Amino acid sequence: MARPWSFAAGPARLPDEVLGQAAARLADTTGDGLSILELPFTGREFGAVIETAEQDLRDLLGLSADWRVLFLQGGASLQFAAVPLNLMTQGADYLMSGYWSERAAREAARYGPVRLLRQTADVDPRADYCHVTTNETADGRMLRALPEAAPLVADATSDLLGRVLDLDRFGLVYASAQKNIGAAGLTIVLVRQDLLGRARPATPSMLDYAVQAANRSKANTPPTAAVWMAGLMFQWLKRQGGVAEVERRNTAKAAHLYRAIDASGGFYRGMVPAAERSILTVCFRLPTPALEENFLAAATARGLLHLKGHPVVGGLRACLYNAMPEEGVAALAGFMAEFKA
Ligand SMILES: *Cc1c(COP(=O)(O)O)cnc(C)c1O
Repeated sequence: MARPWSFAAGPARLPDEVLGQAAARLADTTGDGLSILELPFTGREFGAVIETAEQDLRDLLGLSADWRVLFLQGGASLQFAAVPLNLMTQGADYLMSGYWSERAAREAARYGPVRLLRQTADVDPRADYCHVTTNETADGRMLRALPEAAPLVADATSDLLGRVLDLDRFGLVYASAQKNIGAAGLTIVLVRQDLLGRARPATPSMLDYAVQAANRSKANTPPTAAVWMAGLMFQWLKRQGGVAEVERRNTAKAAHLYRAIDASGGFYRGMVPAAERSILTVCFRLPTPALEENFLAAATARGLLHLKGHPVVGGLRACLYNAMPEEGVAALAGFMAEFKA
């Protein structure tokens, strides 16, 4: 039976190939009768899983030895607190670009002065760091021009590995895995070595990047199965040709959908200016909320699932992460033309 197309923001669709591999290897992951779900995190077998995953991620991103890679829990939302706990002494700048940057800034403000920037040029060189959200998942807005700030901190939950990010510009990048990387429960933090060891004394040890780096992400139990899933995804991504190649595909997929929106004579309307449109999270509206409800019901009946927008932002949203093939986008674009008619 053909699988439905899920356009969910997260947990999001995974490639058929990776799901097949995971299913085949779940019960006997090591080849001698032990499942990944049963492997102690301190053991040699899980050690090989996490080290291979780290190396593959380093290869995909071209990370130099200056970067530490952490496999943590708690989601991007816990990083909203971990970042100021580790890096804020005087105050920080937060570039406001949509729903998630507001959430990040609101949480950071519990730990010290936060300045809300409306544009990249407003950045204060004396700030401890400047935080940006490189893809606003709920709004459908992708950040293309970065502020000149050191260090620059990014919530890249919905675009890490979905497009090429110039990592030389950043000091810290974090992403929870359930959008574009793998299964829920894992949060990846990339942090430059020179930013370690600055955490304020009351920082919970498990949130202290220096503690986690010194323990190779094993200061407590890491999300072992989610690390394994991410590792399978990294290998799949390498087989696809790497990040530049999936960015090319993601750009083409999004262009297909935006054409369907723009060619509808105003029936479908994009939610952000064309120059800010995301290639990963496409947000649009119909003329009335009632029509949006009809659209969702009809789409669901056709196996086009989870197109409802973020509840705070409203409208509709199609997430076109790496695992969504062109075929799924074509099915959605075809349905949109039909529904309008
Ligand atoms: C989904 C999302 C989050 C929240 O992630 P959690 O893992 O649920 O905490 C934060 N930022 C962005 C950009 C997201 O897309």
